[in-house]
Amino acid sequence: MTCDYHLHSEFSFDSSEKIEKICETAVQSGISEIALTDHAEFPLRETAPWPDFKRRKAVITACQEKYGAVLAIRSGIETGQPWRDPELEKELMEEKPDFVIASAHELDGFSDPRTYPYSRENTAAFIHAYLEQMTQMASVCDYDVLGHVTYLFRFIPEQLTAELPPEFFQDRYEALFHAVIARGKGIEVNCSGLRMASIGKTLPSAVLLKRYRQLGGEIVTVGSDGHSCRSAFSGLEIGYEVLREAGFSYACSFEERTPSFYKL
Ligand SMILES: [Zn+2]
Ligand SMILES: [Zn+2]
Repeated sequence: MTCDYHLHSEFSFDSSEKIEKICETAVQSGISEIALTDHAEFPLRETAPWPDFKRRKAVITACQEKYGAVLAIRSGIETGQPWRDPELEKELMEEKPDFVIASAHELDGFSDPRTYPYSRENTAAFIHAYLEQMTQMASVCDYDVLGHVTYLFRFIPEQLTAELPPEFFQDRYEALFHAVIARGKGIEVNCSGLRMASIGKTLPSAVLLKRYRQLGGEIVTVGSDGHSCRSAFSGLEIGYEVLREAGFSYACSFEERTPSFYKL
């Protein structure tokens, strides 16, 4: 089985890819299952509207009729900063997604991670704040897996990440993984880092995935985080390889928020 559990379609504010084309490309690429995880950022704002769930459902149903024999299509959501509005998060879950990724694209009290003025003096503290925020999110929010747990490192200048790689913060990651495992939730292997020359690795890498497994982590999904058919499904085989390297024999797919394990 090859599953892509992190994909964005035209129902995400930052993608214009048609679901129909994603399905067609998936079938051509030999993918057996996909989860459409369109963005729902908190707070809800005009510049990042949420998906029109009713319309998306109709498109997914039509595609299921067309491709259902060879491709399973799950309706998912990637929430961003869901801790900011628990009531709105609850309302969102009434859309009954099959699968929910919770991500921290922003931190409370700091400027945007993409434009933060990273320096030798402030970067470690910023990473600590990020991981604290993620751990808090992992403890209280509604999700199935946490998204790209090393997301912040995509934006830190290379000369700084050489000194402060994610693995340097292993004790903080352990606290995060404990919070995830205690709630019976999971994390994802996000393959977008493989497409970035400055990273060239999955988010997270095998070292942290191995630690997650040693601490009792079992639930993992693999996704490309593709926002178009050019990047959709890319890196999945490497993602599986990284999981095997970390000692995993199974990855997960989801239906109605319930994980199933498939062999790697
Ligand atoms: Zn994300
Ligand atoms: Zn995403």
